[in-house]
This record gives sequence, C-alpha cells and structure tokens, in this order.
Amino acid sequence: MNSRILLSSPHMGENEQKYVKQAFDDNWIAPLGENVDKFEESIAEYVGSEGSAAALSSGTAAIHLALKILNVGRGDVVFAPTFTFIASVNPILYQGARPVFIDSEPDTWNMSPRALEKALMDAERNNQLPKAVIVVNLYGQMAKYDEIIALTNKYNIPIIEDAAESLGSTYKGKQSGTFGDIGIFSFNGNKIITTSGGGALVSSDQSFVNKSRFLATQARDDAPYYQHSEIGYNYRLSNVSAGIGRGQMEVLPIRVEKRKSIFEQYKKEFSTVLSVDMMPEIEGMSPNRWLSTLTLSNITDIGEIVDIIKQFNEKNIETRALWKPLHLQPLFSGTLVYFHDDNSSVSEKLFNSGLCLPSGSNMSSEQQEYVIREFKKIIS
Ligand SMILES: *Cc1c(COP(=O)(O)O)cnc(C)c1O
Repeated sequence: MNSRILLSSPHMGENEQKYVKQAFDDNWIAPLGENVDKFEESIAEYVGSEGSAAALSSGTAAIHLALKILNVGRGDVVFAPTFTFIASVNPILYQGARPVFIDSEPDTWNMSPRALEKALMDAERNNQLPKAVIVVNLYGQMAKYDEIIALTNKYNIPIIEDAAESLGSTYKGKQSGTFGDIGIFSFNGNKIITTSGGGALVSSDQSFVNKSRFLATQARDDAPYYQHSEIGYNYRLSNVSAGIGRGQMEVLPIRVEKRKSIFEQYKKEFSTVLSVDMMPEIEGMSPNRWLSTLTLSNITDIGEIVDIIKQFNEKNIETRALWKPLHLQPLFSGTLVYFHDDNSSVSEKLFNSGLCLPSGSNMSSEQQEYVIREFKKIIS
C-alpha cells in the first residue's frame, strides 16, 4: 500500500458542495443563515428528542456553554470520567470549577456507576455535591445510563452527555445525545461526520437551547442598541460550515452502517487471535463504532503499545493508543479520582493494553484486508 491508511478521515457525500455553493451564490457566508437553520433542524430531527439543536463552533464550545447554562462557576465541582479526551473536561477549568474523576467499568469502558455512587456518597458527606456530571460515550459506545441516571436523579444533579464520538449510537432504541439534560456533538475532522470543525448542543428543554444561542453570540440583550448584561462568547457555526453539515447529515445513516461493518469485519477476523478482545458490546446498546478499538490481553504496558503503533507506522497504517486517563495527566495531578475496583483502575488497564485501528467510512475493503493482514503479523 503506497497511501497511508488513516484512523478516521473526512468522508464527503454528494451534496455538501451544493449547500456551500448556495451560501456563496447568496453571499450568505456569515453570519448564520439558511444552512445553519437547516443543519440544526436535521440534527434535532435525527436525534428525535422533543427539543432542538444549536450549531456551534466546536464540541468543546458546546460543553463550555452547557456548563454555563447549568450555572457551573468558580469553586464548583463537576464529576467527569477519567477515561476520555481532554476536551470533555477543559471547559470545567474555563469556568474556574474543578473536576472529580470517575473510573470506567469494564463492560462499556465508560463511567462506572459503582465508582460514581461512591463519589456521590462522599460528596454528600462533605457537602460538596457536584453541580453537574459529564458522561461520555467513548468511541461511540453508550454508557450505562439506566444506572447512572438513577444515581443522578437521586441526588438531583443534571447530566451533560458528551456524545462527541457517538452521533448515531443508540441505547434501548434511544439516540445518543438525548440522555443528558444537555447533549453535545462534535463535527471535528476526525468524527463520524464533519463540518471541518464544529459542534452542536441539543436539549429537550428549549430554554437551554435558546440560552446557548444567546451566549454563543456575545450575549446581546434584547435592546435597540448593543447592550450586554452577562459574559458572552463567539461560538456560532458559520453558514459555510453548516452547508457541509447539511450534506453530511444526509449520509450519516450510511456512515454509521459502514463503521459498524468495519468493526464486525475486524471482530470476525480476529476471533481466532487469542490475545485480542474487541471493545465489548452489551445488551440493548447499538454503538456507531466511530473507532474500532480492542485490547490485547498479553500486553500490560503502554510502552509496548507505542512500539506496536510504530510497527504499524512503518507499514503506512495509522493506529493510536486509547485515551490516557485524565487522572494521570500532569495538568490534573492531585485531582481526586474514584476507581471502579478498590485496588486497581479499569481505565489505566485499558490505556496500558488498548489500540484504535483505522475505522474511516472511506476505507476500502482492500485497505482493511491489508490492515488485518499486517495486524496478524505484528501481533503474533
Ligand atoms: C472530539 C471530542 C470533543 C471535542 O470536540 P471538538 O469539536 O473537537 O471541540 C469532546 N469530547 C470528546 C469525547 C471528543 O472526542
């Protein structure tokens, strides 16, 4: 193979350019405009919650606004998974709040309800209950919402669902992004669909969506001149980017199907490789398989994973380590973390044995066969 096989690259459909051209023809490059309205409508319709969606400049911006809307401020505590991309939690710091990290559980790799319960009980005892809990659906896998929501309801704490990686995944038939009081999506270049850069905030509470649009456009008061009563941001998506998003939403269902079939192909091929465990799948969940990920049972050290990634690189194949847990990040040293098991961390174990494989919906079957062949050589 001469061309490098990437982990996940943009995959345009047929109509993106048409919608972008429309914006040019109308000279409606910015601000907002028809593409933004239609893009927002298509997201809301797709996830099928009663509410609506606001198109924003990034998934990170969407998380930031979700925290603002839930009144997270200086000195507040927010619970978040330790096993996630840093963008899930950076906005906690923007708000001068502080995170408490919750370990993963082994069935979904997402937030452990058991660790969450321990953390909530401690927090109640110390009079430091969180203002919000951020739950992430990693690599497109849904978290255990029945258990998690039962706990957050008991303590009356809102959930921000970081569905940046899980657009198109479902849990008991319900779309990802609709389990939190607020859900967020990302349309960054490597996600299942992309606007080149962008995000969205969704909620069944229309007032939250309205508030996000207000905050995302400099928090301008309803007055006949420029008047502002609170801090605002410049977080709206441009009408050009939204044109790409409109076209991408039309092909989302087939992108999801393709990613799932890529995962199934890996799973089938690796079923005979004893050391390979594909990311688990549990009853009731239908993950979009944004990235095909696995763990290697004979590896317990990130150094060995880095070495494997290097070997793939030499074969022109991009692979990556799983997210490094946030409680191990220098930025968060000393931050409180609750583990799933008393003496060991599930997220650390995953990090030290896991790998992401090329998963792009534009990968050809020949390319995947090549990845599978090289994988078997490298792993054996
Ligand atoms: C990509 C991603 C984000 C951030 O989205 P951006 O659009 O890149 O700002 C947040 N959380 C998770 C889990 C992500 O994978």
